Amino acid sequence: MAGIADSSCLNAKEQGQLAERFVNERLSVWSKRLNLEGWKISVIMTRRDDLKTRTLGGIRWDKDKKSAVIKVQDASDYQLPFGEMLDDMELTIVHELVHLELASLPRSEASRSSEEHAVNGIAGALLSLDRQR
Ligand SMILES: [Zn+2]
Repeated sequence: MAGIADSSCLNAKEQGQLAERFVNERLSVWSKRLNLEGWKISVIMTRRDDLKTRTLGGIRWDKDKKSAVIKVQDASDYQLPFGEMLDDMELTIVHELVHLELASLPRSEASRSSEEHAVNGIAGALLSLDRQR
């Protein structure tokens, strides 16, 4: 295996394991960058049927316990080439961490779509900065 993006010699199970390891590595990098180190955050690779419709991930948190669980769509439900899939999974991680960053703000049903819009913008900007280097 030449590198993480060169997966032609990996079977589906190995790709899934590699994706999970990648996602956990990126979670650790981004939670430090976002100063979320006080939180205990874990990732669960989740089949599409267990995610909300038209989403690739999600997050639940407990403010008192400072714990959070991020769901990321499982590799076996992705139709993308391996490298692009990893990029997309990383975007999900950053996106959900930005939601967590905003967890202390008041939320309502009315603020949900504005929050989603802001989170998409911030997560996209963070990743494009990261990938410029
Ligand atoms: Zn969101």
